[in-house]
Amino acid sequence: MIRNLIGSDWQMPADGAVSLPVFNPATGEVIEQVPLSGAQEVDAAVKAASGAFASWSRTAVMERVRLMFRYKAVLEEHFEELASIVTRHHGKTLDESRGEVRRGIEVVDFACGAPTLLQGRTLRDVSGGVDQDLYRYPVGVCAGIPPFNFPVMIPLWMFPLAVVAGNTFVLKPSERTPLGGQRLAELFLEAGFPAGVLNVVHGAAGAVDALLENPGVSAISFVGSAPVAKHVYTEAAARGKRVQALGGAKNHIVVMPDADPEITVPAILNSAFGNAGERCLSGSVAVAVGKAADILLDPLRDAASKMVVGPGDQPGVQVGPLIRAEHRDRVASYVEKGTAEGAQLVVDGRGEMSRQGFFLGPTILDRVTPQMAVGREEIFGPVLSVARAATLEDAIAQANASSLGNMATIFTQSGRAGREFRERVEAGMTGINVPIAQPFAFFPFSGWKGSFFGDLHVHGTDGIEFYTRKKVVVTRW
Ligand code: NAD
Repeated sequence: MIRNLIGSDWQMPADGAVSLPVFNPATGEVIEQVPLSGAQEVDAAVKAASGAFASWSRTAVMERVRLMFRYKAVLEEHFEELASIVTRHHGKTLDESRGEVRRGIEVVDFACGAPTLLQGRTLRDVSGGVDQDLYRYPVGVCAGIPPFNFPVMIPLWMFPLAVVAGNTFVLKPSERTPLGGQRLAELFLEAGFPAGVLNVVHGAAGAVDALLENPGVSAISFVGSAPVAKHVYTEAAARGKRVQALGGAKNHIVVMPDADPEITVPAILNSAFGNAGERCLSGSVAVAVGKAADILLDPLRDAASKMVVGPGDQPGVQVGPLIRAEHRDRVASYVEKGTAEGAQLVVDGRGEMSRQGFFLGPTILDRVTPQMAVGREEIFGPVLSVARAATLEDAIAQANASSLGNMATIFTQSGRAGREFRERVEAGMTGINVPIAQPFAFFPFSGWKGSFFGDLHVHGTDGIEFYTRKKVVVTRW
């Protein structure tokens, strides 16, 4: 059983705590047990974080940054190991895991810029003989609640920026992929950070609710499904906590008739089937405008049918397993739902379900409409819906009809269409001729509408704003 990190101790939860199995999704084997901690363990972690806050928040910025540079070096040393941990218990391909670890470390790179990022501002002589200065202070104990699909990258969106700003942290990794956060915490101690600056409590909804209710927690960063994001936002805000809650997605890829198929087809495959579709930036609905469908469908069908499905640690594999058998079955059930509602099955990946492990192959449904469940609901698996639109206007209206607004992307050779799309599509992350519109660490990451609850997005300068509070000092001598 993996343990919680309370201060510098790796502790088992109190007697009687239940645990859940952690699987290798490529084989279906149980590889670990994760404890389901409750209020007692959460309280111990928050106390350890509060205890460390007094000295950590007063530790010189340059010392905090020196430790962060050391953490960066330790993470680089363990880069391949972290990638293989991700593949082993999440299932994605090793290349996808490497990409995830790299994107995560980039937030650590960004956090190393704290001496610049944490600066305030001043205005002398704002009125006769009076100066005003703005200083940034940490907010206190912050908590991070990531989802299962990026077990290394998403925790790294959270605690490096929080701690470099002088906060202390409690991380509650996903109970389905807890091993990434666990290793990140071990390496954090190895880098030399003091005990209590980062604590880890494993668990599920019970641990989250205990964090929401704990008066010692000042700020919560959450990433996960839309209903839980709303719950976390509502409960945290009701208790006066600062909260950023990133939710689910139903991302549209608009394809104009002038899009170059050589670029567009591989991009759609990457967007829809990369990470087995378990990405909040996965393209879920390809909206073919006008004649685009005629150009797209055959090559899409051919290429999707040829994608190599298998264990993520095997060379040449393009689509790994889904996270759990139940999730795979839920995703597969959308194929029946879609065809029952009138969609046409173009590629059926269900043949892969007979393999050992939690597999489902790339699947494509055509003639999907926004009214169908497959056109409307987040599926979070390798199922691509193709919808038709007469005009760009109609395609944008289809994307904007979704209650979610995480990512949207367009493929076109027309600057005018690209610009129109950028101006009018309601998605916090928008792409033009790119499959995945992922902001880098120094830009803010988040969706709009039902994909996000809060106002400050994660990482970038929004991250610094989120993890600091401002004090203005008015001085007259
Ligand atoms: P999830 O909502 O089931 O779980 C997320 C976290 O919330 C986990 O740590 C889990 O332990 C906790 N949790 C689950 N149910 C809870 C409940 N009832 N009460 C309190 N806490 C609860 O999400 P998931 O399945 O792990 O991740 C997939 C979802 O995350 C998808 O919807 C995906 O779109 C979304 N996601 C969004 C982003 C983004 O940036 N917007 C990024 C990655 C994933």
